Amino acid sequence: MKKNHVIVIGSGNAAMCAAIAALERGASVLMLEKANTKEFGGNSRYTAGAMRFAYDDFNDLKPLLKNPTDERLDRTDFGSYPKTKFLADLQHFNEGEPLTDLQHFLVEESLPTIQWLASHNVRFDPIYARQTFQKDGKYIFWGGLTLESEGEGDGLVQAELRELMRLGGKIKYNCNVKSLLVENGKVVGVRYRNYGKDVEAKADSVVIASGGFEANKALRIKYLGQNWAKARVRGTRHNQGAGIEMAQSVGASLNGHFGGCHATPMDLHMPEYGNLNIPHIERKHYRKISYLFGVMLNANGDRFVDEGADFRNYTYAQFGKAVLEQPKQFAWQVFDATVYPLLYGEYKTADASFVEADTLEDLVQKLKGIPPEKALATLKAYNAAVHVEKTFDPTIKDGKNTIGLALPKSNWANRLETPPFRAYPVTGGITFTYGGVKVDKTGSVLNENNEPIAGLFACGEMVGGVFFYGYPGGSGLTSGAVFGRAAGYSAAQ
Ligand SMILES: Cc1cc2nc3c(=O)[nH]c(=O)nc-3n(C[C@H](O)[C@H](O)[C@H](O)COP(=O)(O)OP(=O)(O)OC[C@H]3O[C@@H](n4cnc5c(N)ncnc54)[C@H](O)[C@@H]3O)c2cc1C
Repeated sequence: MKKNHVIVIGSGNAAMCAAIAALERGASVLMLEKANTKEFGGNSRYTAGAMRFAYDDFNDLKPLLKNPTDERLDRTDFGSYPKTKFLADLQHFNEGEPLTDLQHFLVEESLPTIQWLASHNVRFDPIYARQTFQKDGKYIFWGGLTLESEGEGDGLVQAELRELMRLGGKIKYNCNVKSLLVENGKVVGVRYRNYGKDVEAKADSVVIASGGFEANKALRIKYLGQNWAKARVRGTRHNQGAGIEMAQSVGASLNGHFGGCHATPMDLHMPEYGNLNIPHIERKHYRKISYLFGVMLNANGDRFVDEGADFRNYTYAQFGKAVLEQPKQFAWQVFDATVYPLLYGEYKTADASFVEADTLEDLVQKLKGIPPEKALATLKAYNAAVHVEKTFDPTIKDGKNTIGLALPKSNWANRLETPPFRAYPVTGGITFTYGGVKVDKTGSVLNENNEPIAGLFACGEMVGGVFFYGYPGGSGLTSGAVFGRAAGYSAAQ
């Protein structure tokens, strides 16, 4: 029987999963990537490799581990993360809208897809450094996110690339796909630019996995608003929304929340785009998401979010947006010395931007862009409102709150009283966008009548309708894998 030939656009996690699935089902696969050999792999290579999935207990996790004999495992409480909890976490960010079919599919397929990745030689490690607290000699996971791929995002994509090659797939770099070829209403290939030449490549089906539009300033302004002109791009510069526009041009329907995106507080002085040339560990240093242990002040000297509303996994993706919505799109994060041990490593590196002082009066003089007297008044009002009788406990939502402030801090509210005080300047860094093309559970791209466009599939960041007003951390890679696998299987048929 003739092998189906599948073209996959992009080389991030979603593209790799689509390609591996198509190869597994007997298709031949050509992957076309816009970036060169150094920058391939999209945002996926910038990630920590953290992947959220439903599991019952450690028995589900153990077969996935690179090192199942790690001596810490006996002293680790992984808890469980039932499907109902994953669904509830997604629902939390839907702002009252019901869960979509795609969200149900994501949750249902999450564990089988991670197991499938493991069967394709991707291995995982427990995220001890960022997702546990130690209590009574035990490691306790919080928040349902427990595993990351070995070697984080770079390790994930490299492992997937090895698998692609092992299964006989091909990848071509420096191929900027510009449009889809259509014959008799069916997508039959692509047109791409390669070293200044236009090239046509035919295929039985095409999977687009070319990411969202977060790196495209004009599209950010169009869909997200003017505040996003200045957003730093946390990952690749290549995700310009081309795949969404290509699909639209052949009749694809758009889906999801185009005004929504994932964005986190980042060092105000980070470069405009992420950069794979600096070591992976240093790339993360720009992120500043330990705000829950302090307070954030905007250019007016006001607090603007409940910093302790929830565990960071459930707020960090919203608070980048919140910072960009502030006047002049920056904020200062203020901490006292008691919480330094709890701050993520990225607050303690040589290149982290911060100011320090022994009194709050001196500190506010150093908060560039904020009237000092206003900042001091806010910090003093916050200190006076802290519920001192309650006990601080970072391992749980401790309910240690403020009393009487119009904008409360609901958990982990400690007085800022132990010097030296430190403040870190932050802005919003965009991670990825939520709006995209409409697909069904097979990964088929749908037209305005909800009918599949023959020969066209999509997955990953460029699919809409999976995330709306926020996102439980670690769901992006899982979504790429779940819909990538589905799209690859369908494209191979
Ligand atoms: C700093 C950072 C940390 C993150 N951490 C996590 C995490 O720990 N866990 C998690 O779940 N998610 C995380 N995310 C989100 C995650 O990166 C995305 O959800 C996921 O990687 C999207 O995968 P993708 O394959 O759809 O897109 P990408 O990985 O971005 O791949 C898209 C690819 O398409 C290519 N491309 C674009 N246009 C074209 C074109 N016209 N022709 C050919 N190729 C093209 C791009 O060059 C790129 O290689 C993080 C993101 C960032 C930026």
